[in-house]
Amino acid sequence: MLQQTQVSRVLDFYERFLSRFPDLKSLASAREGAVLAQWRGLGYYARARNLHKLARRVVREEAAVYGGVLPTSPRELRALPGVGAYTAGAVASFAYEQRAALVDTNVARVLKRCFAPALHPKRARDLARLWLIADAVLPRSGRAGWTHNQALMELGALVCTARVKHCGKCPVRTLCRSADGELG
Ligand code: SF4
Repeated sequence: MLQQTQVSRVLDFYERFLSRFPDLKSLASAREGAVLAQWRGLGYYARARNLHKLARRVVREEAAVYGGVLPTSPRELRALPGVGAYTAGAVASFAYEQRAALVDTNVARVLKRCFAPALHPKRARDLARLWLIADAVLPRSGRAGWTHNQALMELGALVCTARVKHCGKCPVRTLCRSADGELG
């Protein structure tokens, strides 16, 4: 739901959707029309269709493979409908505490400013390098990775934003290659 959409806009939809479809099983057994009806007003309906397809695959079509539950590794998660690199990393890290990197817009900006100011996250090749950096700086355990990933996202959302860098109160200032410099 959060793809291309702000948290404040998603909250009501999220609560309603979860009360109607509290688990993958209930989502898998619903008709597509019922799923889209719960999504009405949120836009980007491909997300709802993909989520529905994902539930059907995991619970019904390939139940023998998945056993009715989401897989835990980013590689397996990426094989499911609508799951890209970021979502796979986020589910593996936040839901399963696997050691998994994740790079969204905010994380890409923080990693670029800290370690590789010359990279441009909008270029596919540079973004791939930022993913490598994200992987290289991950703590060893999945549990510590959970905290690390949350912290990176918070840093990008609150301290090292696109519009302003609060370097004076930034916890990674001493290792950052862009501290107190121009926005970039
Ligand atoms: S020191 Fe400044 S540029 Fe570097 S991560 Fe922190 S806020 Fe961003």
